[in-house]
Amino acid sequence: MALRRIARLALLLGSLLAVAAPAAASDGVGRGAKWPNGPIRVFNAATADAKAVDLAIAAWNSTRSRVRFVKVKRRARAQVVVRYDNRLAFCGLGFGSIGYPGPYAVAEVRIRRGTAADGQSCAFAGQALVVAHELGHVLGFAHDLKRCSIMNRSVSEGRGGTLCVPQATGPQDAYVVNEFIGRWRCGILEPIDLTRMLRRYGGTAPAPRADPWCDLYPPIEPPAPLVLTRADVEDGAGGVRPAVRVDLTRPADPVLPPFIAADATLLAGSLRDRVYLYRTPGACPAERPLDPFTPPPGTTLVTFGGWQVAPGAAQAVLDDGVTPGPQCYAAWTWDHVGRPSRTAAQATIVVA
Ligand SMILES: [Zn+2]
Repeated sequence: MALRRIARLALLLGSLLAVAAPAAASDGVGRGAKWPNGPIRVFNAATADAKAVDLAIAAWNSTRSRVRFVKVKRRARAQVVVRYDNRLAFCGLGFGSIGYPGPYAVAEVRIRRGTAADGQSCAFAGQALVVAHELGHVLGFAHDLKRCSIMNRSVSEGRGGTLCVPQATGPQDAYVVNEFIGRWRCGILEPIDLTRMLRRYGGTAPAPRADPWCDLYPPIEPPAPLVLTRADVEDGAGGVRPAVRVDLTRPADPVLPPFIAADATLLAGSLRDRVYLYRTPGACPAERPLDPFTPPPGTTLVTFGGWQVAPGAAQAVLDDGVTPGPQCYAAWTWDHVGRPSRTAAQATIVVA
């Protein structure tokens, strides 16, 4: 009977634990033995996460290297078994054995089985990242603690390797997290991972993605059309001063995937279901302020708040702080989990 043993195990820590826990014993996991050329037979016992396993396998196979993962239907034939282990405290944690275990042993990947109620980390995106990381260990790769890599020691909320996802480091950039709600590093492998794979097992790097981020649901639309009308007001001294009425159209609410909705209370903060309207003399602003309350110099936050109308209807705002000259108005919406619209609704009016 063949000797079966479990090779050394590496631990992928979720970001919360990585911050709170002392350095894990697996921090320094070294390179494992190289696999012989040819197929690496994988049996997936984590059947509810078949999509995640397939994505992770496809990512590593994209280099067309001398080794490639091939799924098999019979566990007895497998050289790698992917299975559930709910002793792992939450999705984002995983185990992977390191390198080729030899002809008589089976390499192993373990993940936690989760549900949509557990958020993005338990959805296919988060699980694909964890499985790909653990398969990286199976291929013999150690952690990369310095660069954006699937072999970072942790993944951030099912979005990507921790060093691939900008982190909020202080109150001034607390809004960074909102930028990545509902998105993930869908290429799974980062350039450094492809380089390591090619160096170790040969092959050809696939064409790089133009945008490493993919949407897990379409972002909310901006509040378009944005209609401007002169609506001058009395100045209290018998005259009038210029004012502009802005009609903002409330967009439809996006349909949130269940795992995003489950993260809603975690993510939304104070930005739930809001609209932010800015005025800039001259040209329109190039981009949305990261902190919605701190627009760049020259741009004024005219108003912000919740909607008082139903989707599809327009809400009027009176701006009586306007000055003469061309004025650009730009507005962004924030959805129910605090994710901003990608673009602004914009319109320009010349105030005589
Ligand atoms: Zn690891």
